[in-house]
Amino acid sequence: MSEKYDVVVIGSGPAGYVAAIRAAQLGLNTACVEKWVDSDGKQRLGGTCLNVGCIPSKALLDSSYKFHEATERLAVHGIKVGKASIDIPEMIARKEKIVGQLTGGIAGLFKANKVTSLQGTGKVLARHQVELTDAEGNSSVIETENIIIATGSVPIDIPPAPVDGELIVDSTGALEFTDVPKRLGVIGAGVIGLELGSVWNRCGSEVVLLEALDDFLPMMDVQIAKEAAKIFKKQGLDIRLGARVTHAEVKKGKVEVSYSNGDGEQKEVFDKLIVCVGRKPQTENVLAADSGVSIDERGFIYVNDHCETEAPHIYAIGDIVRGPMLAHKGSEEGVMVAERIAGKKAQINYDTIPNVIYTHPEIASVGQTEQELKEDGVAYKTGTFPFVASGRALAANESDGMVKMLADEETDRILGCHIIGPSAADLVQQIVIAMEFGASSED
Ligand code: FAD
Ligand code: NAD
Repeated sequence: MSEKYDVVVIGSGPAGYVAAIRAAQLGLNTACVEKWVDSDGKQRLGGTCLNVGCIPSKALLDSSYKFHEATERLAVHGIKVGKASIDIPEMIARKEKIVGQLTGGIAGLFKANKVTSLQGTGKVLARHQVELTDAEGNSSVIETENIIIATGSVPIDIPPAPVDGELIVDSTGALEFTDVPKRLGVIGAGVIGLELGSVWNRCGSEVVLLEALDDFLPMMDVQIAKEAAKIFKKQGLDIRLGARVTHAEVKKGKVEVSYSNGDGEQKEVFDKLIVCVGRKPQTENVLAADSGVSIDERGFIYVNDHCETEAPHIYAIGDIVRGPMLAHKGSEEGVMVAERIAGKKAQINYDTIPNVIYTHPEIASVGQTEQELKEDGVAYKTGTFPFVASGRALAANESDGMVKMLADEETDRILGCHIIGPSAADLVQQIVIAMEFGASSED
């Protein structure tokens, strides 16, 4: 009889690996199943975030910003560096090194916390069983008291622009360019489009973003989105709203893209095209027909506020369930579920999960937007402050952007905070803490 676990986690992204480590720390006999392998067939832990998401994109954002600073932003301080150049393969190699260090770090954490790492594809059979299939297709069954599904998400494809991994790429391919595309097309002016568009724009690409919606960043506070559009335009990002891509085709080493907008049919030719139109939950082959776990109408695994599925002792966390697709949201859910399995009373305040777009300046927000408060009929008051009026921001030559606070009109309790400006990601943390403590805007 093989070993029976207290907890089996499927997926080792920021939701799964955090859940596995927390469960093991609480004394539960825990295994984590991960199918991701590198080109040598060696298991890679850390999921999308560490391998092809948050970490590599932030590494490239930082490298490209330093180049941009050297070329465009130091002279104003009286610093002359001559003609700076950027070595793209070296920039990519640095990113790879960081990814390797962090994914290897998870393996170390698993060892230190006594999480058993199992290589292969996991499938939920029923309440107490997970099927593990290795790379050769051999299957075995693992017995467990509890199952945590953390299989994450994958990029959405659109039929008019099929990804070929060479000239038409998804976000993963856009982290691997070996040289700077002269003209870069991006389908989707969302978070990935703006972050990766900024990376290659700073390195010298002429970047055109084709966005189907008429509104820019509709999930952001409308005032902040307007400010962002102005700033990005100044940076040279060509953002075309209301642009519906109808066809993309590789011809003579270039990508021809057709799209329609208010002015009719348009055509553009690019050296590369990034398709980043959102991500979808990864549920393919994860659930056996009799698992008892349901999928909601949008394809996410259905869970309640405690990440419990409809099947007892089976939980789901991270991108595979409702809510924002953010690494820290999944990790919080991982901690909550592990603690609840261990008998603790953990819960999450979903109202205080911050959100950051790592452009320059950064855009960071927490809580409700002004348009959401209006829709909900909440009586609120606003306060805004432009960075151009901040001595510290002027001293740093970082005066673009603003801070906007929203508070309850009667109680003054903070309902939301939206920032575009220098170190917005760091600033928003203070508001997260303030909101957790129920602070007023006066505080
Ligand atoms: P994932 O990280 O997707 O991990 C799921 C894991 O499950 C994968 O390793 C997968 O191989 C494995 N798996 C799937 N099915 C099976 C199976 N059947 N058996 C075994 N293993 C399986 N979020 C932020 O908060 N901040 C950022 O700055 C940020 N930047 C991003 C940049 C990019 C380019 C992208 C693409 C995403 C970014 N995100 C960011 C989003 C973030 O990466 C995700 O929200 C996060 O990775 C989700 O974590 P997860 O653990 O739910 O799933
Ligand atoms: P997104 O939802 O942020 O943006 C996709 C954009 O593509 C939207 O504006 C959408 O209107 C547009 N779009 C959809 N179909 C289109 C079409 N056919 N033609 C033109 N435009 C189209 O998705 P994303 O940028 O792919 O990122 C996926 C998710 O990954 C994000 O939602 C986010 O949760 C996560 N992420 C987070 C960070 C971060 O936290 N800094 C960074 C990157 C990714």
